[in-house]
Amino acid sequence: MRVSLRFFIFVFACFCVGSGCASTTKDPLCFGNREIITTNHGVKIPLYNANPEERYWVEKHIAMMTEKTQRSITLIRFVGKDEKHFKVDAEAAHCEDNRHICIRSERFRPIDVNHEAAHALTYDLPSTSLREWEAIAGEVYGDNHYQFGHFYPINGLLDHYASRSAWEDIAIWVGSIYSAISNDYYGIFRRIEKDPRYLRKLDFLLKWEYIDQTAYDKIKPLLR
Ligand SMILES: [Zn+2]
Repeated sequence: MRVSLRFFIFVFACFCVGSGCASTTKDPLCFGNREIITTNHGVKIPLYNANPEERYWVEKHIAMMTEKTQRSITLIRFVGKDEKHFKVDAEAAHCEDNRHICIRSERFRPIDVNHEAAHALTYDLPSTSLREWEAIAGEVYGDNHYQFGHFYPINGLLDHYASRSAWEDIAIWVGSIYSAISNDYYGIFRRIEKDPRYLRKLDFLLKWEYIDQTAYDKIKPLLR
């Protein structure tokens, strides 16, 4: 038993030294400097490598989220431009299936926190929820349906990126709702055509707690 524990400590020490993680103030997984933020709903979320400005915006945008969304986030991590983490150059942020939200520092847009948190909640919900969204959306996803050049919103979609998948459609909706509320500018929702899918999608977001009643009440009067 003592031998195996020593062996474990040795292996762990090698791992830490080998990956440049030597200080006790650093996380064992070497994500960098960690702090714990406590949200307005009392949820504690580890935040890595945020400078004071990034922390300010993260806390501000997390405070818009439902408690269920906040609880779905495992951690938020800022990634410096010298770190090799993102495999896709175009990605400014992403949410991994362990519900880690990773953000490129140099391309940080606060509303991306809401978009990626929506992905975290989708990972956390039963897969039936995604099927339910797809049933509302209809046959709208995939490159063959909507090429660039369309005017959005169209057929329940708020932008071109949303036409990729139900997964992105949900996150675009959540990001757009909180962007509209935080800027007090509802242009995208005022341009919506008459189509029952928009209201059904909003109902879905409330039902599964992507948004709260206050957000719902602000958007609903704009949908036809
Ligand atoms: Zn996304």
